[in-house]
Amino acid sequence: MQPIDQWRALILYGRNVATYKIALGKVLLDLARREHTTINMPELAEAFLDTYIERLAQAARPQLNVSGRKTLMERVVGGVSANVLQRNRAIEIVARDGFNDVVPRFHTLPVGQLGSPFYHQETYRLILDDSLIALAKSSHCAELDSELDSRWSLLETAFEPNYSPALLGTDGEQIIYASAFQRLAVTSARPVLWGYQNGRCFYCGELLETDNAHVDHLIPRAYIQHDEIWNLVLAHQSCNLRKSDNIPPQEYLDALYRRNEYYIASNHPIKDHLVVATGRTAKARATYVRNVYDAASLAIPRKWLVAKLSVLPDPLSTLSLIE
Ligand SMILES: [Zn+2]
Repeated sequence: MQPIDQWRALILYGRNVATYKIALGKVLLDLARREHTTINMPELAEAFLDTYIERLAQAARPQLNVSGRKTLMERVVGGVSANVLQRNRAIEIVARDGFNDVVPRFHTLPVGQLGSPFYHQETYRLILDDSLIALAKSSHCAELDSELDSRWSLLETAFEPNYSPALLGTDGEQIIYASAFQRLAVTSARPVLWGYQNGRCFYCGELLETDNAHVDHLIPRAYIQHDEIWNLVLAHQSCNLRKSDNIPPQEYLDALYRRNEYYIASNHPIKDHLVVATGRTAKARATYVRNVYDAASLAIPRKWLVAKLSVLPDPLSTLSLIE
């Protein structure tokens, strides 16, 4: 497994009960980019604190999946910004109690440990691995950082006390969601999709540039009339134009279904959303997307004739090879 795939799996997979792993990911990328290979705990604590100060200054959104409770970092940042906790004292507290869970568990996923670690922990410092330095200095660093921001936003949304995939009503196959979900899909779709697709076009498999990645409705929007993320993919503008409002080959529908199952299996924050939108079981979801596809094929009899079919590999099969 390439380090970049391993990194993405660590960030996308896992049961996040708080946002610590995402914050640590941002700190590690930043320190590695500046070639800090040996990081002592006060240095790590200061960077971690500043990451949370910056994040919480944007909006005080929940950082923990327990309603009404705050993380240590939220309390420390609150103390610093209210001038009741001195910065030096705050760094000491974070160094002592801020990493007890996240540093030893950064590499742990529900399936176990992945590949070789990006750092080693010694008594009072971290030693970063060359693979992390190389990743942070690569051309992918900015997009990995934006994926972390996106994952962070999704977790905060999922931790909101009144977050629920409440149905406002149903109208045949059309399900209307709370406006929070609509905002989630529209504003966060691109980085979420980018992470899964590894920066590649859903239709041709070639690399995308961040500025030419178009969000495309796999089953045409002209039929489906919504922007639900289960039906969205990233594609080149040119592939998007070639496909237009035609019905794509079924192989792409199958790849879309596997993509959605991947988000669900990885406990991605959009999991609940996908389950509500497409079905409670894998079988129900397969039936649902197939029915929508078949209905759209009848309504829009124009097939997209693809010269060279190229379907993205299934990351779940990659992961099962590692176990
Ligand atoms: Zn393409």
